This record gives sequence, C-alpha cells and structure tokens, in this order.
Amino acid sequence: MPQYDILLKNGTVIDPANGLDGQLDVAVSAGKIAAVAPAIPSSAAAKTLDVTGLYVTPGLIDIHVHVYHTREPETLSIVADHHMFRSGVTTVVDTGTAGAKHFLHFKRTVIDRSKTRIFAFINIVKSGMEGDFEQDVSEMDAALAASIVLAYPEECVGIKTAHYWTSLPFDAAHPPWAAVDRALEASALCGKPLMVDFWHREGRTYQELLQKMQPGDIHTHVYAQQFPILNAENQPADFLFEARERGIIFDLGHGAGSFWFRQALPAIQGGFAPDSISTDLHVGNVNGVVHDMLTTMSKLLCMGMSLREVIFRSTVTPAREIGHPELGTLSVGAEADIAVLRRDEGNFGYVDCGWARMDGSEKLSCELTVRAGEIVFDLNGIARPLWQDAPPAYWQIRVPSGRIVKR
Ligand SMILES: [Zn+2]
Repeated sequence: MPQYDILLKNGTVIDPANGLDGQLDVAVSAGKIAAVAPAIPSSAAAKTLDVTGLYVTPGLIDIHVHVYHTREPETLSIVADHHMFRSGVTTVVDTGTAGAKHFLHFKRTVIDRSKTRIFAFINIVKSGMEGDFEQDVSEMDAALAASIVLAYPEECVGIKTAHYWTSLPFDAAHPPWAAVDRALEASALCGKPLMVDFWHREGRTYQELLQKMQPGDIHTHVYAQQFPILNAENQPADFLFEARERGIIFDLGHGAGSFWFRQALPAIQGGFAPDSISTDLHVGNVNGVVHDMLTTMSKLLCMGMSLREVIFRSTVTPAREIGHPELGTLSVGAEADIAVLRRDEGNFGYVDCGWARMDGSEKLSCELTVRAGEIVFDLNGIARPLWQDAPPAYWQIRVPSGRIVKR
C-alpha cells in the first residue's frame, strides 16, 4: 500500500500560515495533509498529479455568501456545492440568511447535506433576510440569537446585522441604532464576533458605528459607495486606520452593490487593503458582477496586491476572523482542503457594482479542488488516466466523488 493517497507534484505552494512560498510537493493521506516537502517520490502515492506551473494553496475561505437555498419564502441564495469548488472555495460562511427561527432548518437541509463546509452568522432578525421583518425591531431578539450560536458552536461563528432602515426618517418605532445595538448585545452574550452590513446616513454615521464595534467585529462591504472612507485628498481616512488599530476588521463583501473601483482603488493604493476578501455571492450577482471568489481575488491582484497577500486574505485572515485558525492552511494533520490555481497573463476586464470596467493583465482560475482529501473539481481531468489507458472500471457511470451510480 502506498503511503499517500494523492500527491500534488511540482507546484508552487503558497501557504501563508506556514510562511511557505515555493516549489514543494503536497501529499494527502486519509483526508488529511500528510506532508509538504520538496521532491516527494511518486512511488509513495497511489495517485500523482503533475501540477507544474500551477499554484497549490489552502482551500479558499469565503466568509460572506448566501447559501440557504431551501428557505421559504425564497431568498437570493445559491447552492454552495454548485458554485464553490469550481472557484477553489472549500469553506463558506452564510451571513445571516437565517435568523434564530430558521437556523435548524438551514442546518438540516443545507449545512448537514453539503460537501462545502458551511458556517453561519445568525441574523439578529429572527426571521432572517429579505422581508419587511428586517425593519421590525420586535424581530431583533439578542438573547434568542445568542442562544442559537451557543447551542450550535460547530456551525455558528457569530451574529449578523444588515439592511435596517436605510432611507426613511427615524422615528420612535425605528431608532437609528436598534439593529446594531441589539446585534452587539447578542454578540456579547455569545462571545462571538458581529458582522455588520450598514448604511451610513444622517443621524447614524459610519464613524459612530466603528466606535461602537468591538475588537474582532467585522465590517463587511468596506468599499461600498455609502461609506466616507476617502478624505478630501482621495486618501483613506485616518479613522479607518484608528479603527483597525483598535481591532476592527474590514471585509470586502463584494455583492451586487458594495464594491466600487472609485472607492477601492484609492483606498488600497493608499494603504487600506481589506483584511479579508469575500464575495457576498447570491443569485443577484453570480452571473455578474461578482461571478465567484477567484474573480474577486483577481480584481485585487490587478489592483496591485501581490498573489501571496491575495491568498493570505482568502485563507488565513478569514479563518482567524471566524475563530477557526485550523482552517486555511496546509499544515500537516489539517483536513486536506486544497485549491490548485492557474495564474494567466493577458487582457482581461473586471466589472464593479457601477457596471464599469477595469482592465487587468492577470486572472486566477481554478484547475483542481480537494475537499477533505477528495478531488471534488478537476477542470482538465489532470487526476484521470487517458481514455486509451483507462482500467476496466471505465464503463461504470460515476459521479465526481467516484461513487458508482450504475453498473
Ligand atoms: Zn450579504
């Protein structure tokens, strides 16, 4: 019996958590990373994949998506397993599609049945997202939301607030800070971070929000149009750096309306990059303008961020932000979640939420994805024999996991 199940040979390993960036082989055994070393012999593995010219990174982590596709009434959620592996993503966080009322249904019908690892931020609104109930303060029960997070620590990684009272005048029934304050209370009760989607407006400013947030809390949608992140000189404002210094985390959260080059480019070039890269992927942006995680990462690459930094902010930092530092690494013994990426040079175009284009000369795409030691996506069949050489099992009909569906 060979020592390893799979050997990824001759790739460039980028594993920022372990400070690795260079020519190394990666061996997988029994669903775990078994070795990362130079020149591991092919004879030691049952299956060797030549990944010359490709990048081998930890499976990507997208901490802002909507994947509660079984919810009724229907939401804009997508099916995680349909979209993630083809972009190298092995772990996602559903950010508040479910509140306390629906979490168990979400867990039973989606989380427990998906191959993609799915965590949840529980919405402070008990009915979750996409309805008038998001504006109803009586729906925001801090103790209830916290109790779900505490009862399901395997799946729940924090609290989410979003979409509250973005334009109408505040009144007694709609105090400006109702959603944020109750979400902060829930976060304190369960001891997990709060992720905030916020609308800066008269009577409720972004600067005040950052003051209210606690170290470890995450502001998603950092380059959305409504935030005054640039000063009169078009440089990132001082208060952003002060908030970061205090431990506030800034997440990209692209979405259909939260990423503008006119905000992002000056901010990043002025030294204010996002701590984590995420897509906010849902039905309303999956065919444009977001597409997927690698398109979002490619935008940052084309905006001048190094590949190593792009990978760091798509693996290590999101893992830390959700309290799972064991993820997003290729450490020996870690679950074998791996992305094999291609970096192409050429003429590419990237579109933001204003439906305007930035031209770029680089593009990341996914060649192969491994989830818990299983090859779950293989764009060019590099893990497969040539058809002329295929063994007798060639005639069996199998789904990608290798499960035989018909003999
Ligand atoms: Zn979202």
